[in-house]
Amino acid sequence: MIHSLSILGSTGSIGRQTLNVAARLNLPIAALSANRDVQTLEAQARRFSPKLTALYDEAAARELRVALADTSIRVVSGMEGLLECAAIPEADCVVTAVSGAVGLQPTLAAIDAGKRIALANKESLVCAGELVMARAAERGAEIIPVDSEHSAIFQSLGSRLHSTELRRILLTASGGPFRGMTTAEVYHKTPMEALAHPNWSMGAKISVDSATMMNKGLELIEAMRLFGVGIDQIQILIHPQSIVHSAVEFADGSVVAQMAVPDMELPIQYALTHPKRLPSAVTTLDLFTASPLEFSPPDWANTPCLTLALDAARQGGTAPAVLSAANETAVGLFLAGKIPFGRIDELVAAALDKMEGKPFPTLAEILEADAVTRAFVACLEA
Ligand code: MG
Repeated sequence: MIHSLSILGSTGSIGRQTLNVAARLNLPIAALSANRDVQTLEAQARRFSPKLTALYDEAAARELRVALADTSIRVVSGMEGLLECAAIPEADCVVTAVSGAVGLQPTLAAIDAGKRIALANKESLVCAGELVMARAAERGAEIIPVDSEHSAIFQSLGSRLHSTELRRILLTASGGPFRGMTTAEVYHKTPMEALAHPNWSMGAKISVDSATMMNKGLELIEAMRLFGVGIDQIQILIHPQSIVHSAVEFADGSVVAQMAVPDMELPIQYALTHPKRLPSAVTTLDLFTASPLEFSPPDWANTPCLTLALDAARQGGTAPAVLSAANETAVGLFLAGKIPFGRIDELVAAALDKMEGKPFPTLAEILEADAVTRAFVACLEA
């Protein structure tokens, strides 16, 4: 159990739910950071009295400095500000809840500072999972997944983390709001339709990723890195009820799953209390109401993003970073109303095709691949 938190991305969906959990567990907050949402961060800072706050956006940080002038809370900005929040000595756990590859360097800074990482920023593991995991092992920093599927896998593995007794991971997916539709039927779907997830309440980027199924592709790569398994050791199952959050199959054929009603406060809380389990605000699972629980294979022909993610996972090197950066840029364009839904996978495919992959990349090479890919995708639509 940890004693004090720093939250990177506190104004987003995971960040806000983390603060609910922290309030219930009476966990002090040492630092809060966000991208540019001055109002929300000010309100959070007044309620939780952190020592430090950071906004990535410089102009927004100046505004927050004025807003918090009557308090002793320090306000910092930019990537340096995020890095300071990640390494703040007062916190022993850093929740990485920022969306996108911008979370990579703060995650590494928190690892270097020996913090427990409650990891919600999947892009950092997708882009640079080998580096992140190696660094964590070297520094003895614990990485506890917050992503509901990975939390389920982590919980199901128990003491058998990184054990050869693990045969397979069964990674479940709800299928998102467009499950059962063809690529032609979804091509012109609007951001509003893509954001209406049937089971989970989530941020905009991940909701779109869930609609394209890219989210499951990113999660497959995340699982490979977190649990040290090969791509052929992961089976993806469509499970529309989102009750079985994922499962593991052991060498003897036994399958252990974690189940609960879909509520992110549960995996968030477990990442903070592990190995302890404390009472939570999560609704009790009633299996009679939840029944029937259904499982089917993905509709590969109509989920091109999932296929692209598997291709990138097989290629390795910088390919997952290119995949993630192209997807992030394309999702941004879609949410801004600049491209149709069906253009997202076309842009990701174009980037993977065009960018030259590098095996065993350094951090600098990964950041370079990320930047070049973003520029390439933006250029295609300019
Ligand atoms: Mg997930």
